[in-house]
Amino acid sequence: MNTGPPSHVEIDLDALIHNLGHAQQLAGPDKQVIASIKGNAYGHGVLTVAQALQEAGVYALATGSLDEARVLRSHGVTLPVLLFAFSTTELTVQAAREGFVPTLTSFPAAETLASAVTEPVSVYLKIDAGLGRLGEPLATAREFIEKASALKQLQIDGVYTHVPFAQVSGSDWATEKLSAFDGFLASLDRAGYAFPVTQAMASCCLLAGLQDNCTAVCVGHILYGLSPFSAGSPEDALDLKPVLEGLKSTLIHIGHHNAGSDVAVGGLYGLKAPRTVGVLPLGLAHGLCRPIPGKDLAALVDGHRCQVLSVSLEHTTIDLDGVGHAATGDPVTLIGRDRQEQITLSEVAEAWGIGPLEALLRLSGRIPIKYLGTTAGI
Ligand SMILES: *Cc1c(COP(=O)(O)O)cnc(C)c1O
Repeated sequence: MNTGPPSHVEIDLDALIHNLGHAQQLAGPDKQVIASIKGNAYGHGVLTVAQALQEAGVYALATGSLDEARVLRSHGVTLPVLLFAFSTTELTVQAAREGFVPTLTSFPAAETLASAVTEPVSVYLKIDAGLGRLGEPLATAREFIEKASALKQLQIDGVYTHVPFAQVSGSDWATEKLSAFDGFLASLDRAGYAFPVTQAMASCCLLAGLQDNCTAVCVGHILYGLSPFSAGSPEDALDLKPVLEGLKSTLIHIGHHNAGSDVAVGGLYGLKAPRTVGVLPLGLAHGLCRPIPGKDLAALVDGHRCQVLSVSLEHTTIDLDGVGHAATGDPVTLIGRDRQEQITLSEVAEAWGIGPLEALLRLSGRIPIKYLGTTAGI
């Protein structure tokens, strides 16, 4: 008797560790890897992913959620947890008091934190090398670093920037920004300001083959087997393994409907032929979407592709006509492999009209996760 949940997501920790190895290889042996686990580890379940990454030897973890950082600490994750600029100055002070490493993006925040703590706290400073979002602009960054360094209650363990791009053509822009950041760090170094961690490259930079003189990289997409590039970029060439391996559910009901019956919401179908309809206990409330016009969604039952007929708040119906002997309790694959057939995360995301990362974030935290792989269970 299967008493497990009727639906679950399968996460392959071996694939995560494979992808980490690939990131390290792209970065080179001298660079530390800071693992981005923001957004519930891009939807993969932050605690188990963090535990596996700690076991695999990453240098630090980075997230934008103080709540998630606290979950890690209370479950034995001892790695430094960098908080990307995540909230108000008050909460930044709180995070530092709790032993997390906050990001300071301007001098007033640095001053406030320094005056609010008695013992020195570890911080990273963020420089805006050209993204135009967070951090002290490069033009005034020298003064920011000098003044922050003079605050004795701050231990500046890292200086970083972020130069993301989604089109391969953005790599020229990023190359220029990386070089400007390198030049800035070199001039600081000559003036006697050196920091344990300097970091600028995320997944896009590594995958585009860019280089810099920093001591670390900070990657998320690569770890989860996701491409940071928009559609049309050459992501097939990337040696990444998908970490979300499956979205599985169970047939909880099978309905046999006669020709001529007006099944479905509002009697929409008006069936011309008899139809067997399977029902899954998974719907919009669990993060699923309806397909956008012109796209079809499918689910696999016993190796057959079955068309998704409807997605409602808590249920999905599928056409079981092609399946010989479907019975309630049978497994259904919404993402993953079943015999010769396969449905990928990208295929589902495309039918939903969104990207793979957005699809992961829709499912995130709403469906139980089953971890697979030899690394599982640590
Ligand atoms: C999310 C994030 C990263 C990681 O980006 P990926 O594209 O997922 O590799 C790096 N740095 C900062 C500041 C981030 O917010």
